[in-house]
Amino acid sequence: MSSEQDKNKCLLKELLGRSGNGSCADCGAADTEWASYTLGVFVCQSCAGLHGNIPNISSVKSVLQDSWSNTEVEFMASTGNDAAKAKYEQKVPAFYYRPTHSDCQLLREQWIRARYDRNEFVCVERQEPYSAGYREGFLWKRGRDNGQFLSRKFILSEREGALKYFNKHDAREPKAVMKIHTLNANFQPAKMANPHGLQITYLKDNSTRNIFIYHEDPKEMVDWFNAIRAARFHYLQVAFPGAHDVDLVPKLTRKYIKEGYMEKTGPKHTEGFKKRWFTMDDRRLMYFKDPLDAYARGEVFIGSRENSYTVLPGLPPSTQGYHWQFGITIVTPDRKFLFACATEEDQREWMAAFQTVINRPMLPQEYAVEAHFKHKP
Ligand SMILES: [Zn+2]
Repeated sequence: MSSEQDKNKCLLKELLGRSGNGSCADCGAADTEWASYTLGVFVCQSCAGLHGNIPNISSVKSVLQDSWSNTEVEFMASTGNDAAKAKYEQKVPAFYYRPTHSDCQLLREQWIRARYDRNEFVCVERQEPYSAGYREGFLWKRGRDNGQFLSRKFILSEREGALKYFNKHDAREPKAVMKIHTLNANFQPAKMANPHGLQITYLKDNSTRNIFIYHEDPKEMVDWFNAIRAARFHYLQVAFPGAHDVDLVPKLTRKYIKEGYMEKTGPKHTEGFKKRWFTMDDRRLMYFKDPLDAYARGEVFIGSRENSYTVLPGLPPSTQGYHWQFGITIVTPDRKFLFACATEEDQREWMAAFQTVINRPMLPQEYAVEAHFKHKP
């Protein structure tokens, strides 16, 4: 290795230590062993791979493994992550979703393209697809009972406070009206076996309903997602006047605390254990026969410790019947719920998920939800 190469390696290492360069410019991950020498940013290996998909905009190199020219190193020194952020993130709307390292590839790749390729956060007119307060278009929606995806017209209207879809192209009445204030959207590529798969949940008569949608075009799909977030944001701004953006933004869309299969038994604990798909959405533990079911078979509300909710490892000694090895008992003021996990790791993760909400004091509005669950037959 030439002495010039050695000198450049030293300079690059020094640059990595500068403010902003220690975490990935795109996803915030702690490792930044790659760099785009055309954009002047330090990124993680995973994001470097995504930069490879926009070769007209970005060229990447390993900071330590590849050889660097003087001009490339000088460019990195004159730019860096803080400067790139100031340049490419001038006008990111508060509601716009900023992905993290654990998010799906679709969100991370579109975030990279939106900033560096489409310049969406420099030219505000390019934000119209998710900022106008109205959006309509066709999406592939999974049929409720047959599981087939069919093209359906969707309309998101902030004025009406709803997302609607229509079954027939010329239908005047929507098939479903999903109120913005109960709506949640979650990318679910693994569960739906589709890289652009989006799960939308909403409440109808206090029961959770799911719809599963996608669009072939990745930008369209992420635009829908951010349009939903915008509608939620504007709804919450009106509902909670004076609230700060930083307090509202985490409420725009929720990721589930945990999902997966467990076995459960009925209220008498003698019905035998049945395998069900469980989703822990904040304090709602829902179960489904199939992960893509439209309706939850049942829901369990999990309150706080102060309100007599506890979670215990194992099952009561009197438990009958064949079941998975690793039990969990949730004690609520009304009854005990018994679950069984296939592995110890699953059991630990589920216990931690339940503990998260049990340890948190209940909010006033959560008492109303609890009351509803208590009066269920
Ligand atoms: Zn990254």
